[in-house]
Amino acid sequence: MIRVTVWNENIHDKEDGVRAVYPLGLHGTIAEFLGKLEGVQVRTATLDQPDCGLPESVLEETDVLIWWGHVAHDRVPDELAQRIVERVNRGMGFIGLHSAHMSKPLRKLLGTSCTLRWRDGEFERLWCTAPGHPIAQGLPPAFTLEQEEMYGEFFDIPQPETVVFTGWFRGGEVFRSGCCWTCGYGRVFYFQPGHETNGSFHNPYVQQIIGNAVRWAAPTARRNGLDCLFAQKSAEELTAQGEEVPAF
Ligand code: ZN
Repeated sequence: MIRVTVWNENIHDKEDGVRAVYPLGLHGTIAEFLGKLEGVQVRTATLDQPDCGLPESVLEETDVLIWWGHVAHDRVPDELAQRIVERVNRGMGFIGLHSAHMSKPLRKLLGTSCTLRWRDGEFERLWCTAPGHPIAQGLPPAFTLEQEEMYGEFFDIPQPETVVFTGWFRGGEVFRSGCCWTCGYGRVFYFQPGHETNGSFHNPYVQQIIGNAVRWAAPTARRNGLDCLFAQKSAEELTAQGEEVPAF
């Protein structure tokens, strides 16, 4: 069973224009379609909950964390972002959606500014640029989103291991819309569609991609907490605790 937590800052979701598109909220909509997948167990978490919805116990029980944020990135405590990064380094998958490119966890994971070019209200064609990748399974060579926010290059990210989807917009811009990285033991996927007023999370191809990404990002190996501490101990401490001192 893959345990997924869908996190949303849940602020736009209270606006009429967004409620009309996503009556369940962005997190509720994503949780609803993921919840139909076999072997996937979904919970939601939002910024307005205690501990931003992500106390240690929830993070420890999460295999894949999905993140949507836009106007409240700065309200996510640095300590929480750091805990998420540590969890990813120990094996948890992380999927950043749309404006999560500027979220604290993703920027800390990738180590670059993650800035990009943008313009609202565009037509997008998404091309699959890695058809053999697990996240691309079941997807056609290209599909269109009639209304989506244009995100354009240069996208300030470290070189992805795979660019699974490349977006093209009517203005001529292109964008690395679906990117994969490995961070420690964890897998990270960023996916560009998902502006709050555009309805892309109702699109069956977008749903398929996020579902595929959940399966791809689910941990295959985990590193335990002791392992992390281990590297920070001195040789004397390790010897005193009867641990093996690694030879370099
Ligand atoms: Zn947006």
